[in-house]
Amino acid sequence: MRNAPPSWERDLARMLREARERGLLDSLAEVYASFPEVTCDNCARCCFESPGLFYVEHLAAVKMLLDLEEGPREAVLRRALREVFFSWIEPERTCVFLSPSGCEIYERRPLACRLFGLVEPAQRDQAEAEARMAARREALRLELMGIRIPEAVIQRTLLSCDRVRDMNGQPVRMDADEMAARVADLDASLLPREVVLQEFCFYSLGERLCAASLGWETVEGTRLQMLARAQEGESVDDLLDELWRRARPDLALAADGGVR
Ligand code: SF4
Ligand code: SF4
Repeated sequence: MRNAPPSWERDLARMLREARERGLLDSLAEVYASFPEVTCDNCARCCFESPGLFYVEHLAAVKMLLDLEEGPREAVLRRALREVFFSWIEPERTCVFLSPSGCEIYERRPLACRLFGLVEPAQRDQAEAEARMAARREALRLELMGIRIPEAVIQRTLLSCDRVRDMNGQPVRMDADEMAARVADLDASLLPREVVLQEFCFYSLGERLCAASLGWETVEGTRLQMLARAQEGESVDDLLDELWRRARPDLALAADGGVR
């Protein structure tokens, strides 16, 4: 993980402007539009965590945040903060965009959400195994630093659902690698290719905003402190309030695309 945030993370306003000028947000919408219309049970089980975003999807999400009123925007940021700092000890959580009425950004949801339930079983099983291995590796790393990770957190990876159907009631299959390559190509017109390959869609909105506003090193150091204090018995809600008071100005600035 990198330490200081590079310019493309800090200067989101400029990057958002460039993405618009080059038509990248429109191209992203075209990728999304190439998915068939589908139905499912809308149970929201797949919304158990915030999706990883490609960089151009992150810019689109920042634009969505800018479109929100201050109250709802801060609610999303607060949920993002909770996810970034406490998700390793809280098995029960949901995506920052999930509200009681469903996904707040459904029409503009990212690629990871659109692919859910549409990938070939072999591709899906491989992704699931890789996600669990990555979670287990991170849990071992945190345990070496004294943080105990509940097994339920490692096992919560959920990448499969067989209830997605097209409008004729038939299962739908998409090539996840091909769709990901199309969005990665959009990222590559804004970022160095090695960064695109390294970051791919591995970071969520919260992670990218926290890294942009605080820097990865501060995020990591603070997260370890917060997790340790929670495991010593302090309330996560109280710790989150403390964190919110400290991080809110920087986080709000990052979410504003550095406009203020
Ligand atoms: S895709 Fe599957 S898990 Fe997600 S909401 Fe639909 S039925 Fe539920
Ligand atoms: S963005 Fe929407 S569809 Fe995707 S995980 Fe979040 S709530 Fe679910």
